[in-house]
Amino acid sequence: MVRPLRADIDLEALRHNYCLARDLAPQSRSLAVLKADAYGHGLVACARALETLAPALAVACIEEAEVLREAGITSPIVLLEGFFTADELACIDALELWTVVHSDWQVEALLAFRPSRPIPVWLKVDSGMHRLGFTPPRVPALWERLAGAGAQVCDLHLVSHFATADQADTAYFQGQMRTLEALAAELEAPTCLANSPATLSHPRAHGDWNRPGVMLYGSDPLEVANAVSRRLKPVMTLSSEIIAVRHLAAGERVGYGGRWQAQRASRIAVVACGYGDGYDRHARDGTPVLVEGQRAGLAGKVSMDMLTVDITDLPEADIGSRVTLWGRAANGVVLPVDEVARYCDTISYTLLTGVLPRVPRRYH
Ligand code: PLP
Repeated sequence: MVRPLRADIDLEALRHNYCLARDLAPQSRSLAVLKADAYGHGLVACARALETLAPALAVACIEEAEVLREAGITSPIVLLEGFFTADELACIDALELWTVVHSDWQVEALLAFRPSRPIPVWLKVDSGMHRLGFTPPRVPALWERLAGAGAQVCDLHLVSHFATADQADTAYFQGQMRTLEALAAELEAPTCLANSPATLSHPRAHGDWNRPGVMLYGSDPLEVANAVSRRLKPVMTLSSEIIAVRHLAAGERVGYGGRWQAQRASRIAVVACGYGDGYDRHARDGTPVLVEGQRAGLAGKVSMDMLTVDITDLPEADIGSRVTLWGRAANGVVLPVDEVARYCDTISYTLLTGVLPRVPRRYH
């Protein structure tokens, strides 16, 4: 008997979603953001699926880039957070990586380094996210210095990140955009700006490169979906089975704290998936699942290895029935991870990256 929980990864859907991003921004090159183990989908498998489509890949740190190079991936790889210590520059050189620089110490370390060939550098502008990057008034002087360091630096770009590109109210986004357009015009600089929501809804931000992440995995980041975001296909399907069924009388309670109480005679399914697998413990009663492709809702708190579902209205459901926690059921019905995330007061990103190694991935 094998524990029935698994994450099926649909690599065709990944490629489909990548092509949606690419075709939306035909004047721009689309790099594929594969950080955090490709948002929980498996770094190497996703890189292999995309390497012939995407002109470059992006990861957060050198450890992730090393995994890709060891797996034989030869595509250009951008380090979105740059390097964390000056020692890593030797590795950037050896692995032929591209790097973001966002801090003064990185600029100084880079200019003091003697690489075997110039390193492609993306200079990070803080245009309003106020997380990483140089404030706009500092950028022209830094750009000049880096542009003049031909032995260390090549292919200089401006890179920035949007704080609100997913929102229907575009005022803050437009402010970031004005800052970036002014800088890019002054420096005649190529840019890489757009994340998934900006790729999907703001052609003005497409720039020379765009860098979609979550949309590649089929999650719609927009506050209000649009015609293209509705065509995204789920890449991960997290599913398990009913391993036990309880019959409760009205008034009986389920699970830790007895949070859920039967309002009528009820059937409760116990499903082999819990927070020890990465399923969010904040999931509320009623959080949707699909039992053999039919909707039902969580009843009671998520446990470490199990969760419980009210199947009173699904008389066919029984031990062995397949339960889709998110993704596509065998009958084709889709439960978007974004919808599950709303019931957990979180975003799809945390659910997808939160699926733990105990859950076997199966690639198709
Ligand atoms: N660029 C940077 C710097 C990021 O931090 C991220 C994601 O967090 C992305 C791009 C991709 O964003 P998204 O997954 O919203 O497309």
